[in-house]
Amino acid sequence: MSPIPPVDPRHWINGRRQPSLSGETFTDHSPIDGTPLAEISRGGPAEAAAAVAAARDAFPGWAGTRPADRARVLHAVADGVEKRLDELARVETHDNGALLRSHRRGVMPRVAHNFRFFADWLTGSLTHPDFDTGSRRNHVSWDPAGPCVLITPWNAPLMLASWKIAPALAAGNTVVLKPAEWSPLTASLLADIAHEAGLPPGVLNVVQGYGAEAGQALVEHPDVRRISFTGSVPTARRVAAAAAAHLTPTSLELGGKSPLLVFPDADLDLAVELAVEQYDNAGQVCLAATRLLVHEAVEEEFTRRFLARAGALVQGDPRDPATDVGPNIHPRQLERIDGFVRRALAAGGTALLGGAPHHELGGLYYRPTLLTGLSQDAEAVQEEIFGPVLTLQTFADDDEAVALANGTRFGLAATVVTGDRVRAERVTARLVAGTVWVNCFYVRDLRAPFGGSRRSGVGREGGTWSFDFYCDLKNTVTAQEAGWTHHG
Ligand code: NAD
Repeated sequence: MSPIPPVDPRHWINGRRQPSLSGETFTDHSPIDGTPLAEISRGGPAEAAAAVAAARDAFPGWAGTRPADRARVLHAVADGVEKRLDELARVETHDNGALLRSHRRGVMPRVAHNFRFFADWLTGSLTHPDFDTGSRRNHVSWDPAGPCVLITPWNAPLMLASWKIAPALAAGNTVVLKPAEWSPLTASLLADIAHEAGLPPGVLNVVQGYGAEAGQALVEHPDVRRISFTGSVPTARRVAAAAAAHLTPTSLELGGKSPLLVFPDADLDLAVELAVEQYDNAGQVCLAATRLLVHEAVEEEFTRRFLARAGALVQGDPRDPATDVGPNIHPRQLERIDGFVRRALAAGGTALLGGAPHHELGGLYYRPTLLTGLSQDAEAVQEEIFGPVLTLQTFADDDEAVALANGTRFGLAATVVTGDRVRAERVTARLVAGTVWVNCFYVRDLRAPFGGSRRSGVGREGGTWSFDFYCDLKNTVTAQEAGWTHHG
């Protein structure tokens, strides 16, 4: 028997539930213990075409709806998320294995907040500036662009979907969401919630599908006006290549290999807490600071305290409130993580902590791991592992710290731990990253831009930057004196 309430496994297209034309499905399993959760409709080009057609037909009506009325519907979606918060949290935990207490306390409230924030930003903070030259007035407007395809990964499914859907809908666009095949359930629940909140048919569509089967047809579609993709670099290349055919503007939020820099003047207890936090969601967090860079003067003491703290983490069932580290998402992911670790050990690295799957727990649990003795060009230092695996390197001075921190192809985030404000300013100015935290981690203000540099992404979303992306910006230049024959 399924451990969660039933979730409709079919697509949501034009305000109706539909199975795939082919009748095909795939089985969605829980990473907690492998229990089958649902037989999900397996979408392809036919479903992609139907969903984009629905979004295209619904666009004029939704774009023409007054912003205040659009905002009211988005607040009603937020109300629906809050009303069903516990159900959403439970379903998400069974589907992707992240901690139930995090879903209840942090993730699902943030999902509701995403809808409220972008609704309020639309009606409150989005100003349409005028530039007056005396004889001519330049008026800037943010016009809805059309159907948007939003593609999300499995590690933070509803959080990332809402982060894209909310600004896209607030801006007056219509949406086709393609959730990841390893955690497709809460997207289906969100379609129900949006429908109950009064979102008209076709404004939000959800196409389920296995990887490229539905995704590729969506990003290739000529009627799509925006693509926002969050996922891995190899898939992003395919998405960008498909988008190039129609020059569809595309936002790419990709992977990372972010550093955490611990300077000799740092509060070491704080540094250890921030370092241990990187095992959250079993390391399956794009922003995770997986490279610990520690000044050589404090390395011994930092490592001693880190091993004591990380060694006491409780690994197990993510539904248990006592658990700190849950399972990884899929057998393929566990194998991938273990491959990176085994190759690092074979290449001369040492595991100061972990270094293998947690066999006693069975299933998909990988022990929190700390690798040391690796050079900057080692695979485990350069590549995103997306599991509970951190590397430890030392540096002698600020220049070396910055060189190591910037020394990968990624640039998503960085965290600096120091007691010296001047050093913090000097170092952060030199880091290549979309987000830099100083003496803190993870939480950021939705008004600020979010995205990655280098291979970590293209473009920024958040606050006005989301509206810049999801809208066609228009400048209307009007002569103030000439040409007016009718003044009514
Ligand atoms: P993935 O690239 O395998 O898949 C992402 C999505 O793309 C899925 O929905 C998948 O079905 C779909 N897809 C696959 N092939 C496609 C194609 N040809 N065309 C269109 N869509 C296609 O990524 P993943 O394994 O699901 O997620 C993990 C990755 O996501 C990691 O690299 C992680 O760092 C990254 N991530 C980034 C952020 C961020 O904000 N920067 C946030 C979370 C995760």
